[in-house]
Amino acid sequence: MNNWGIPPWLEDEVRKRDKTCVYCGVKMAERMPPRGPRKNVATWEHIINDSSIVTRENIARCCVACNASKGTRKLSDWIESSYCKKRGITKNTVAEVVKKALRIDA
Ligand SMILES: [Zn+2]
Repeated sequence: MNNWGIPPWLEDEVRKRDKTCVYCGVKMAERMPPRGPRKNVATWEHIINDSSIVTRENIARCCVACNASKGTRKLSDWIESSYCKKRGITKNTVAEVVKKALRIDA
């Protein structure tokens, strides 16, 4: 188990699935670089902000920038934010796992 209470089998599965940020699609770095920008480093994300939902549908990986921007906002609200607008992130550009969550969260 890591800090998020994600079992190893799920962690492996999600790592294999989410090579790029599920929100903005940037290619993510596995580790914090010793210097330089850290915004592309991979972080664990609960798509729906409920830490009790530990499923392949709700656990994903996104970049530091998207994670920081989304914070505790509801996915359907955040997707309308200026951060997403500026980067061209819409309901149609996000990863399939996020599209599914949006259909439930709407
Ligand atoms: Zn991102």
